[in-house]
Amino acid sequence: MNHQNLFADIIVDITNENLDKTFQYIVPDSMRDILKPGMLVRVPFGNGSRKIRGYVIQVTEYPAIEVERMKMIEAIEEQGNSIESRLISLAAWIREQYGSTMIQALKTVLPVKEKMKQKEERWIFLAISKEEAQSYKSTYQKSSRLASRLRLLDALLSGEEIPYSVALHQLHVSSPIIKSMEEQGIVRISTKRVYRNPIKEDAAVRRRDVLTPLQQEIADEILEGWEMGDYRPTLIRGVTGSGKTQVYMELMEDVISNGQQVILLIPEISLTYQTVLRFYQRFGDMISVLHSKLSLGERSDQFERAKNGEIQIMIGPRSALFTPFANLGLIIMDEEHETSYQSETVPCYHARETAIQRGILEDCPVVLGSATPSLDAYYRAKKGAYRLFEMDARFENRELPSVITVDLREELKSGNRSILSRVLQEKMEERLEKKEQMMLFLNRRGYAGFVSCRSCGNVIKCPHCDVSLAQHNNGRLVCHYCGYEVRQPEKCPECGSGYIGGFRAGTQQIEEIVKKRFPDARVLRMDFDTTKKKDGHAQILSAFANQEADILIGTQMIVKGHDFPNVTLVGVLAADLSLNVSDYRAGERTFQLLTQAVGRAGRGVLPGEAVVQTYQPDHYCIESSITQDYLRFYEEEISYRQLASYPPASLLFAIHGSCEDEKLLEMGMDYLARFLKKIDSEKRLRIVGPANESVAKIADVYRKVIYVKQEDASYLLRIKKQLERYIEINSGFKNIKIQFQMNE
Ligand code: ADP
Ligand code: ZN
Ligand code: ZN
Repeated sequence: MNHQNLFADIIVDITNENLDKTFQYIVPDSMRDILKPGMLVRVPFGNGSRKIRGYVIQVTEYPAIEVERMKMIEAIEEQGNSIESRLISLAAWIREQYGSTMIQALKTVLPVKEKMKQKEERWIFLAISKEEAQSYKSTYQKSSRLASRLRLLDALLSGEEIPYSVALHQLHVSSPIIKSMEEQGIVRISTKRVYRNPIKEDAAVRRRDVLTPLQQEIADEILEGWEMGDYRPTLIRGVTGSGKTQVYMELMEDVISNGQQVILLIPEISLTYQTVLRFYQRFGDMISVLHSKLSLGERSDQFERAKNGEIQIMIGPRSALFTPFANLGLIIMDEEHETSYQSETVPCYHARETAIQRGILEDCPVVLGSATPSLDAYYRAKKGAYRLFEMDARFENRELPSVITVDLREELKSGNRSILSRVLQEKMEERLEKKEQMMLFLNRRGYAGFVSCRSCGNVIKCPHCDVSLAQHNNGRLVCHYCGYEVRQPEKCPECGSGYIGGFRAGTQQIEEIVKKRFPDARVLRMDFDTTKKKDGHAQILSAFANQEADILIGTQMIVKGHDFPNVTLVGVLAADLSLNVSDYRAGERTFQLLTQAVGRAGRGVLPGEAVVQTYQPDHYCIESSITQDYLRFYEEEISYRQLASYPPASLLFAIHGSCEDEKLLEMGMDYLARFLKKIDSEKRLRIVGPANESVAKIADVYRKVIYVKQEDASYLLRIKKQLERYIEINSGFKNIKIQFQMNE
């Protein structure tokens, strides 16, 4: 038999920056069928007399150097049971799935260890008795200037001790304040770690709630199902406040008492001090929290502690997924629908899929949770690919905020041209009198300059793709999916009104309008501009938490995360704004954002109210978010996706082309579209485009895209293979960069 040689890339040092130093070896025939990325092998090194060990990171048919100069792998030392092996094998999966180089994948999965002295984490302890602390507390309560001291004291009274970094980043207590409290003898700062197991010891101090019957049942069934051999991922859909976090904690406790570890993924923006504190109160110093403010060194320290068994729980955003626990027993992903789980740098992995793959490699359950699951996840749960649990009632049936919907078309009709409806103005006035706080939310995510009619609410859409047309500055409207173009109309094609145009108000204009209407109100604005400088985000939030302002105006940044107990009114200025982004997921994002925004009001003891202003009050996304009715939203949205063949009902395969030569790109993409039609012998593909990308040119490079829709993954895969081959053998594509992407 004449078979080709196989070669293996071996990495001998994965502990430092030398990740890209790989060496290639010949795979002996005896290992052809068994050698896999992640295995530890013995290889000759240097002149051949030295033997060293290294990890296989890739097996390939293509030699990187002359075969004559290559040595052969001697032996497999270990099949891949170590944590390094499993992570390397995860990297290999990421490379395969998302298309990156193996080195890029390895760098994502294995933290680059900076050469620095390991710093011990500092902790803050209460240095006075609880009685004394109570008396300080009543002093602090008297002035809003002392609010951050109050937060620290509160945290210490309920959690005993907290990490310095949590006080700084999650509690937003500045270091001078901590220092001054230390000098007053109220707190003590120490790096001395007190090891203990809070589960065994002193259970009365650690807060632990009794689960409701439904919460308990879900926790039990997840664990029992796993033991019975049901290895599917689990999705918990539970309205905000139904007790998902309670279920997570129950599962975590079970896994930890089994001697295993837990990764809990929470989007950074939701990683607030209230959240973190709850986990500290229950699990104490078994926990480490990752966030983007940690330096690379600090972060790899945390990974080191996890590897050494010093901590049992890692909480953090998507990169926490790669924590090198020796015996991982559970992965939980909260707020599963959050877009921040999608990596935007290469490799562009999705944390949900990657978590599920890590679960397979580690043989551990994966639990996803959300009040508003992504269409993808819920669709799969409905089809039985995930186990599904649902909680539709809030704990103790606590009430949802009451919502008033305002039809902005009616406002215009009755002569109010302001972006603040009359009802909203009244409510704001009330709050200012009562000294309660409010948030005004401008929903302009991915704002793409659509054109709408202020009289009837009509939005100009593409006749072929059912997405809004985007306004280009040449006075034309363009579809980003199929390239359809039309001149911007001067009158509304539906009602003939002249009040048609782009929605221009930004947060800054709104701030001006609010200040003019309420000259005595203290206003804070949080948007891209005001958060640009370091810690800008945190500063605004802590100022608002300290009640230094009455009104917080902002984009979606303000609806996620922090709970402000004194906020009793949320105003959504134009709820349908984000519906009109030229993207098939606009409805899903709008529903998620609005559900969250409405849920912001009335988190504390004071009852909450929300005013939702919109031009499309009867749109299903708006209506179902106001009633927090996920199931209704899902039914309507999925039938729309089915009709239009968008994911998850269908696969959306994007072919992105970019080239400095516009003519060449145009020709190349046309050829591809024609080739697709030719090889689609069964006429099953829906081909859209070529069209300009939403940004048609970046740094003098032109960009175009073709979308292909099809339900059958294997048919699409065959098409993709043929396409790859066509591009490979046609020299015309030498100067065009082509990239494929599935379901972006
Ligand atoms: P979710 O994570 O679904 O938003 P949480 O777990 O945060 O819900 O619960 C919402 C609120 O209800 C929290 O303040 C929590 O302490 C309280 N709560 C939920 N379940 C219980 C329970 N079984 N016992 C006591 N309090 C509970
Ligand atoms: Zn109109
Ligand atoms: Zn179109």
